[in-house]
Amino acid sequence: MEKYKKMIDELELNDLKDLMFECLQHNQAMVIDVLQKLSDKSDKSNDDIPKALHEAPEWCICKNCREMPSDLEKMCCNLRPEYCLSKEETMALYVLDEMQLAFSRAMLRDFRQLTDLEPEEANKSNRHHAYRLFVYWRHQRLMKGDRRIIPSCCVWRIRNEFPSPTGVYRGFQPNVQM
Ligand SMILES: [Zn+2]
Ligand SMILES: [Zn+2]
Repeated sequence: MEKYKKMIDELELNDLKDLMFECLQHNQAMVIDVLQKLSDKSDKSNDDIPKALHEAPEWCICKNCREMPSDLEKMCCNLRPEYCLSKEETMALYVLDEMQLAFSRAMLRDFRQLTDLEPEEANKSNRHHAYRLFVYWRHQRLMKGDRRIIPSCCVWRIRNEFPSPTGVYRGFQPNVQM
């Protein structure tokens, strides 16, 4: 590690920036760590927090979470509003994209054309696969039965993208296979 530190110390600022951008492109999970660091830094300097559209719960820092039914689900991305994970464009790219969702379905061998599904069924399936893709995007792995908690802001971004017409959503169920 010392060797790398020395190499980094010797880099020009612009080369460092390019290198960092390249690393982020290759490792999407790192994006979140970097956002977290930037968020911590701006904590000390930046005071103008964008106003939220709705009242955020007490445990939420990013102002995009909503009250959740169980304590387990009350999880925020813990980033400042301007860095909220649910607003991250790579989330749309990796988690909400139709092709990615279709691929996720194919991986589970229950691939069906979206047009063959009733709208409610299609949205339900898309939500399910978007949750899977989120966990994969965030943790770069998905184990059998892996049900990691997804921050509330991101859960609601997925739900807003693929809404249930009844407005009823299944909450987090530990130990249920994804
Ligand atoms: Zn939040
Ligand atoms: Zn958030």
